[in-house]
Amino acid sequence: MANTIQAIRGMHDVLPTQTPKWQFVEQQLREVLAAYGYSEIRLPIVEKTELFKRSIGEVTDIVEKEMYTFNDRNEDSLTLRPEGTAGCLRACLEHGLLHNQVHRLWYYGQMFRYERPQKGRYRQFIQLGVETYGMASADIDAELILLSHRFWQRLGIQDKVELQLNSLGTIEERAVYRDKLISYFEQQPELLDEDSQRRLHKNPLRILDTKNPAMKVLVENAPSLIDFLGEESKAHFETLTSRLTALNIAYTLNPRLVRGLDYYSKTVFEWVTTELGSQGTICAGGRYDGLIEQLGGKANHAVGFAMGMERLLLLLEACGDTTAVKPVDAYLILVGDVAEKAGLVLAEKLRDALPQLKLQMHCGGGSFKSQFKKADKSGADYALILGEDEVNNDVVGVKFLRTQDEQQTLSQAALISLLNK
Ligand code: ATP
Ligand code: MG
Repeated sequence: MANTIQAIRGMHDVLPTQTPKWQFVEQQLREVLAAYGYSEIRLPIVEKTELFKRSIGEVTDIVEKEMYTFNDRNEDSLTLRPEGTAGCLRACLEHGLLHNQVHRLWYYGQMFRYERPQKGRYRQFIQLGVETYGMASADIDAELILLSHRFWQRLGIQDKVELQLNSLGTIEERAVYRDKLISYFEQQPELLDEDSQRRLHKNPLRILDTKNPAMKVLVENAPSLIDFLGEESKAHFETLTSRLTALNIAYTLNPRLVRGLDYYSKTVFEWVTTELGSQGTICAGGRYDGLIEQLGGKANHAVGFAMGMERLLLLLEACGDTTAVKPVDAYLILVGDVAEKAGLVLAEKLRDALPQLKLQMHCGGGSFKSQFKKADKSGADYALILGEDEVNNDVVGVKFLRTQDEQQTLSQAALISLLNK
């Protein structure tokens, strides 16, 4: 082993025993997204570093210490995307999609952050991102929450996640609040940790987002942003909460919920579980109207969320999810040269007739006994047996690997109708 090369810390392989679970969950998510009329967009993994600096903000965990940034051979500074919102908006602006249009989009893929790896926190992880553009009213904020709620229902975990909600108001409202918050923290500077001292004047709201338990009481007693909202922001928030109440979606108001990124305004929300320790946020999002202008577009509206797929799968596992997908339905055993040749033809014929059938054909010869062992190990329900006799009589032997049924010899037509069941 001394000479083998290992994967990078915090970047994980998903092995074939795990991929069926991923595929199952991905399929459920896709179906729900389609049911709400959302379209997929596919985006590059690498973007100009400037894009993330401008959108996420210089004084954030991501830009300060988590980005994978490098110079390419042209000396351009590029970054592996730490999140998808900026790239999605960049693409829509670049292709003129935001001009007098409404969009409901989703993307799915790897994100990269240089964090300390632990359960539910990795350096390469997958997000499902959902972004909508061009809609000002709180109805779309509500739709996104309903859509994510339907994910949980589909996956049977609606009782394991809690919706936390807050409003960050407008940029102007936040400015007033910001001053109040700075004076509050300045009264007890000795209680601020190093990160928070640095952020105090640059980005004091981020202090509310601290994960340092020593600062819990200080943060809990801080003034609440929700008390600083103007009429319009209040009305927006009330529309959203009344829609949720009408649809029986429970939520908790969390005045400390400010989200890690600077570009949010009005609605912010998180779906949180208590099953995964401090990595409990499965899905997080909100309204970020201001980002569009920040990236050089005309004033417009944007609301979205991103879901951490690894955390979702960990939660499903913690809830005892037992979804098992069989990799193979039938295993074709071929004994002897004649059968090996005829076997390829038979296998193709079966695949033509039964496009859904998962058929694995034995390759590389060997005794019946050793092939039979492999058939059993494959997890297949049927071992299909072809030897010289079967080829000459134009039949196939069938052994039932998971039931006590007697072995049968069937014509190809009878075999197809058996496997079709
Ligand atoms: P956290 O507070 O846990 O660091 P965040 O606020 O940085 O999360 P977002 O940028 O809002 O996270 O990303 C949306 C979601 O992506 C998170 O709620 C989480 O489910 C997932 N996520 C974020 N960072 C990681 C990571 N390093 N590894 C795995 N999943 C992650
Ligand atoms: Mg983070």
